[in-house]
Amino acid sequence: MAISEFELIKKYFTSNDRGEGISLGIGDDCALINVPSEYELAITTDTQNEGIHFFKDTSPFLLGYKSLLVNVSDLAAMGAKPYSFTLSINLPDADERFLEEFSRGLYALASKLNLPLIGGNTSKGPLSISISAYGLIKKGRAMKRANARINDGVYVTGTLGLPAFAVDLGYRSEHICKLMENLSLNKEYDSIFNHCYEKGMLIENRCAFASALTELSTCAIDISDGLVGDLSHILKASDVGAVINIEELPKPSEFKEYKLPEEYQDHLCMYGGGDYELLFTMNETFENRLNTLAQSFYVPVKRIGTIKNGTLELLKHGKMIDYREKPFEHF
Ligand code: ADP
Ligand code: MG
Repeated sequence: MAISEFELIKKYFTSNDRGEGISLGIGDDCALINVPSEYELAITTDTQNEGIHFFKDTSPFLLGYKSLLVNVSDLAAMGAKPYSFTLSINLPDADERFLEEFSRGLYALASKLNLPLIGGNTSKGPLSISISAYGLIKKGRAMKRANARINDGVYVTGTLGLPAFAVDLGYRSEHICKLMENLSLNKEYDSIFNHCYEKGMLIENRCAFASALTELSTCAIDISDGLVGDLSHILKASDVGAVINIEELPKPSEFKEYKLPEEYQDHLCMYGGGDYELLFTMNETFENRLNTLAQSFYVPVKRIGTIKNGTLELLKHGKMIDYREKPFEHF
């Protein structure tokens, strides 16, 4: 017999609803969170819908992991330390194989962050996962989009472009199939897609680094919709411009390995999105301290440009490039 709603919740989503600061976890109408007086509560929410944010038949483990990752990435972008989260899930049916793997992926990241799941909602419907995450940040220390200053350096963590390449491969457009054929990679198409899609979903969280980064930076965002689009949010909010050196963008080793055309690599890094890496600005006199911090957290950090007066300029080896292409938007 199919598992009931309440059995399902108990079996898959109640294994850790306790933590420092959680006065009441799962089981009542609300959970209760205690916020220490010198902190602010950072709150974010994100939904993953089948066919929009992930391909049909995506591994439930990866889905559980990434649904939480995109939320803690927002907390990291403010410099907030993850404190707890809630999960609203719509399931087409109570498929226990799915639930087992989904909750394993979810708790893989939650346990790493010592993050309790304190409530949620479970309903029948087309597969959709909404998570809200709550974080703590010392009062007045959040890294806000409006805080970029002229002459600040512009930095990114990790590498850019791999998740977007995976999405291109997944859509199997005529264009990408032709490209893979030209690169003599058509026989390996499926294994390359699987490798990039999995790696593009099992993204490292930057929470601990970001929390420490609040000592050096006051302005950050996470790259969800592509570098150019998300940098533009910072520039608009801060009323500044920037010069970005495209040849400095950190690329995944796969791009070189597959010998992707350079223009396509640049395009994926600039507009691709789904990277969930940090983009931040900082007074460049802190660069030695930044390097020490990055090393101690094993987080790769790269300077890609400088905040300036005026507009956004994208330079490739000193030559201005056109960026008419619009960043991704849902509507
Ligand atoms: P209510 O009807 O008051 O909203 P429910 O009966 O739907 O509460 O849920 C019972 C308890 O189980 C609540 O504490 C709720 O937060 C929790 N819950 C429901 N679904 C989930 C889920 N997917 N993950 C974690 N907790 C859940
Ligand atoms: Mg209720």
